[in-house]
Amino acid sequence: MIVETIVVNHFQVNNYLVICEKTKEAALIDAGGDIDKVLNTAKKYNANIKYVLNTHGHVDHVAGICELKEKTGAKVFLHKDDNFLIGHYKDHAQIYGFQKENAPEIDEFIKEDGFEIKLGELVVKTIHTPGHSKGSVCYVIDNAMFAGDTLFCESVGRTDLPGGSYEELKDSIENKLFTLSDDIKVYPGHGASTSIGHEKKYNPFFGKSGLI
Ligand SMILES: [Zn+2]
Ligand SMILES: [Zn+2]
Repeated sequence: MIVETIVVNHFQVNNYLVICEKTKEAALIDAGGDIDKVLNTAKKYNANIKYVLNTHGHVDHVAGICELKEKTGAKVFLHKDDNFLIGHYKDHAQIYGFQKENAPEIDEFIKEDGFEIKLGELVVKTIHTPGHSKGSVCYVIDNAMFAGDTLFCESVGRTDLPGGSYEELKDSIENKLFTLSDDIKVYPGHGASTSIGHEKKYNPFFGKSGLI
């Protein structure tokens, strides 16, 4: 598995290109824009972007879907509970300084926790982690987890946006993410990568010295 980080748009969102080395099939975790950068990265590996796997529906993570779909025909996934955010796409695009184009088209809504998608010889496992938004998910592939805005390096996602809940976020991280193996590498939606073990030990929102 190859993981390439591509930082896009004025929110500095980490988009991740995950490539199955054997089949060259690839998935883009979130599509926030700067599609040329994404396509050039894919080209470098001769990879074919088959899927866009959205961690959640916020505009900074979905603003590039239309263009990517047009150029690659990739199939787009999002958890069903964030569909309402896509409904507000045009308003949010204007408020947050994105091009006010049509709302992205979602091909398949993820409905259940544990939903799996095959990517070449890799298996992508979905964990529903509400809190930052109702339909936030994390994707686990081998020893890597793509966390969106749920868990950051020594921080957590904000919960004051529509559909956010601090209680749910805490529950998702403590009872779902922190049950994963310590050596799982965590790739968040913004900022530096980390690991489950590091966050269990040093994330100031949890543990003995926790703020909650
Ligand atoms: Zn977000
Ligand atoms: Zn974000």
